[in-house]
Amino acid sequence: MLSYRHSFHAGNPADVLKHLVLAEVLKYQTVKDKPLDYIDTHSGAGFFELAAADAQKTQEYQDGIEKLWAHTSEHEALNEYIDLIKSFNNTSDLDFYPGSPKIAEHYLRRQDKGWFFELHPRDLVLLESNMQGKRSIRVRGEDGFTGLVGLLPPASRRACVLIDPPYEIKDDYERVVKTLIKAHQRFATGTYMIWYPVVDRERINNMEQGLIDSGMRNIQLFELGTEADTDVHGMTASGMIVINPPWKLKQTMDNVLPELVSLLSEPTGFYRCEQLVDE
Ligand code: SAM
Repeated sequence: MLSYRHSFHAGNPADVLKHLVLAEVLKYQTVKDKPLDYIDTHSGAGFFELAAADAQKTQEYQDGIEKLWAHTSEHEALNEYIDLIKSFNNTSDLDFYPGSPKIAEHYLRRQDKGWFFELHPRDLVLLESNMQGKRSIRVRGEDGFTGLVGLLPPASRRACVLIDPPYEIKDDYERVVKTLIKAHQRFATGTYMIWYPVVDRERINNMEQGLIDSGMRNIQLFELGTEADTDVHGMTASGMIVINPPWKLKQTMDNVLPELVSLLSEPTGFYRCEQLVDE
């Protein structure tokens, strides 16, 4: 029984980091004319109204996207992300926040395909409605981990994958690593992005070690934290691991992460920007 709904968390600091990285990766992956397959293993509803009861209950977006709304950065990537979110709002107010499916759809071109997996019955209905109308987009109410492996290697021979589980089932941490190993065996040149929460640091250390030991090359890690690790406060940081990143991503994140700490998580915040495994 799935209880996680992303509508409570849309636009929070974790979404800012995740969607900034997603947008940067897709921007570079869609420069070449060649077709691309985008696979979102855990899609959520795709689009969120921030005045709705779920978002208002937690108001997590106030610690994330709202703090960037009137900000102009000296870094192009951060301005592009803020402008991207603004493009989903009809007025200058922050009313709506797009999920990963709508962000991906923004970058996908006629020659590309988008595959979106979602298991929660209510979010699946919302996702289908938010993503309808494009022939190149397929929404599946199936398990995203097995769905991903089944789609590889893609006919296009170019793929970009987001793995963003809720981690409410503790198995998800191990499943991420096992699925990535299988996916990479079938298609080693894809770009794989994995989101993770820091609730219990040991789980993340194990996940990192599992990826390091897997033999996969060229892995980067980007993390944004609001406070030092603790075992009492819930999620204190979140991160994105990227396998086969675009070559400029690390440099971009080296620039943007200190700014995000000062905007979103002063005075106790921190970041990590690391090449976990060399090319
Ligand atoms: N990627 C979305 C975004 O950035 O807007 C947020 C996704 S949310 C963190 C995780 C979603 O995965 C939830 O909507 C949940 O119902 C769904 N889910 C959980 N287990 C799943 C599975 N095995 N396969 C597909 N979807 C799953």
